Amino acid sequence: MNRDERRPGLLIIPVFIGNRGCPQRCVFCRDNSDEDSLTGKDPGNAIGGIVRAYLDAAGSRKKSCVQIAFYGGNFTGLDRAQQYELLSLAAGYVDAGIVQSLRISTRPDAISRKEIEFLRGFPVRTVEIGVQSMSDDVLTRSRRGHTADDVRRAVALLKENGFQVGIHLMAGLPAESRESFLESVDRAIDLRPDTVRIHPTLVFRDTELADLYRRGTYRPLSLDEAVDVCTEALIRFEKAGIPVVRLGLQPSTVVETSLVAGPYHPAFRSLVEGKVFLALASRLLTSAVPSKGEAVFLVSPPDGSFFRGLNNRNIAKLQALAAPAKVVVKEERGQKRGSLKLLAGGEIYSSDRFSNYTTGHSI
Ligand code: SF4
Repeated sequence: MNRDERRPGLLIIPVFIGNRGCPQRCVFCRDNSDEDSLTGKDPGNAIGGIVRAYLDAAGSRKKSCVQIAFYGGNFTGLDRAQQYELLSLAAGYVDAGIVQSLRISTRPDAISRKEIEFLRGFPVRTVEIGVQSMSDDVLTRSRRGHTADDVRRAVALLKENGFQVGIHLMAGLPAESRESFLESVDRAIDLRPDTVRIHPTLVFRDTELADLYRRGTYRPLSLDEAVDVCTEALIRFEKAGIPVVRLGLQPSTVVETSLVAGPYHPAFRSLVEGKVFLALASRLLTSAVPSKGEAVFLVSPPDGSFFRGLNNRNIAKLQALAAPAKVVVKEERGQKRGSLKLLAGGEIYSSDRFSNYTTGHSI
């Protein structure tokens, strides 16, 4: 199931076009035409099968918005006849009231006024742009074939014409440092996209990056480095009010069997969210200094597992900080997502990852 984790009620039905429409191959990109893509299939039958499978899997769960999304290549780089065929087939599901709108993913240099005019003839609501970096040096070394100015121009054109814009960024590309990645994050915030996806760069077989890795001229981020830099990026985007709807690649057998090296983890977002909560909770414990009794943390129910961390590892660390007080976690419906309260020694302390404040007052 492919959903934007942070938007309950949105169901995205992905239709992979299999690297089609790309003018060249980026260093990190693996050939995905062997995956469950439209390559070599009748598009009408294939799209129908995918839509049915996703709607059946979603069952009666309430969905406020269903979108068919063309992913896996450069949609607006396809020739017009192919774009027309695919968009018309997908638009049929919108006309029938089965889905609400369409979504495409594409490259910034493949967005023009003419292309936008064409897209406006279909119920395309969202355009996701593969930005990857806002550093021209990193883009060149990654063989992206576009510049940061192409990104600025494409996002401005799409927003001007009323499209929702999602952007993709990658951490750990060739020639990128922690500082230059975070600089890209700040420049991406300036673009005011509606949503962001962030993936740590992974090395897949049959890519140029795999050759660079074998020759020792490319070193992927370690998992700790990737979690650290993506945590900082998440906080910057959230403080700017821009939702990060995905962190890390969607786990799949194909990803796992093609992986050569890099910071892959099937629950990458949990690692990042867990790190954010551990930092907030540690700061609260330092302010509260409970000497005995209980240190009770209140979190919103959807944040409960992020707060505890994978295998409860955050609880073990917090317990060591709070001892001899006992750490207790309560999931409270009224608690705002991303925020924490600590009840300790007759005081209540709160902390919020958006504003980073810590206050204490009597209960
Ligand atoms: S534009 Fe996207 S799909 Fe095309 S080669 Fe680059 S990463 Fe792969």
